[in-house]
Amino acid sequence: MEKIKMEAKKAALQAVVFLISGIATFAQVPSPPQVPIWDANLVILKLHKISDNVFAVIPATAEVETTKGIPQATTAGFIVGEKGVLLIETMMTKRLYDQLFALVRSVTNKPIIYAVNTSDHGDHCFGNYLLPKQTLIVQNEFCNENLTKSYDGIKQFMVALFGKGRGIEDTRLRVADILIPKYQNVKIDMGNGNVVELINIGTAQSPADLFVKVNAKGKNIWWLGNPFLAESPSIPWLFDGYFLEPVENLKKIYAMIGDDDVIIPGHGRITNKNGIKFTIDYVTALKINIEMALKDSLTLEQVRKKVTMKDFDKGYVLFDWLHYNFNIPNAYKDISNSKSKQ
Ligand SMILES: [Zn+2]
Repeated sequence: MEKIKMEAKKAALQAVVFLISGIATFAQVPSPPQVPIWDANLVILKLHKISDNVFAVIPATAEVETTKGIPQATTAGFIVGEKGVLLIETMMTKRLYDQLFALVRSVTNKPIIYAVNTSDHGDHCFGNYLLPKQTLIVQNEFCNENLTKSYDGIKQFMVALFGKGRGIEDTRLRVADILIPKYQNVKIDMGNGNVVELINIGTAQSPADLFVKVNAKGKNIWWLGNPFLAESPSIPWLFDGYFLEPVENLKKIYAMIGDDDVIIPGHGRITNKNGIKFTIDYVTALKINIEMALKDSLTLEQVRKKVTMKDFDKGYVLFDWLHYNFNIPNAYKDISNSKSKQ
């Protein structure tokens, strides 16, 4: 792991073209310490039955590797309703979509009526073009707008992080059918006692986020997508240019979750509310540290040297890349801007 961190410092000198989804512009930023961050050609997806007719789909390595700080592929899931299936995520490539589809078919032959994407990042939605024609795609309104406007740019950004020759290049845009505007929620009663709630709370990682809550006969199951990536030692990827709004919204979602709810994070093993607390603790501490630094009028460079937050650096492979290149600068920018408005 230390070796990877050293590599991370070296890689910081090599810039890649990067998409900032909120404003759909490109910026030169450092490459991650390893490309691909995880390899879509190797990922094996595994089925987990959560309750009657509610299934999570998790990378097979997640059980062992999440708490070791090794980045994991995207999670997914599905609910089998009376009339058909609601799919959560469509994955990044055909290879992964086909695995997900086969897992659905291992449980039911019912049609896929809805497919929900929790983000405009390709690992959550690039499989949409492979869905059956009749499937209705559900997205946050901004998510659909950004994918429609910037599909090629998002594809380029996915290739930069997840590598060439993984099948990302072959994907193509398929627009959404049902859009959920900012601050609006939609409920879908799938029958069989399962009600799905889709929550657009605003930006929690990017403006394209959508949270999925399933009430299965009184038990709540959440798909939290990229905003809550995984348990400790993972930290959030706040590389879309936002900090203060995500902090507020991460806390709002966290407050909505019950202690006994089942949590499927965006990129980790199945957990519970306590399992995602590290994300809240990290953003809270980062906010306090940056506020203190701004009181002392420190420059961004000085903050980068001072706010190392070693307590939170517990072996996540991407800690340095995210903390110094994105999370600190975005927190610094948002908090300075909010101070100058006061
Ligand atoms: Zn993701």
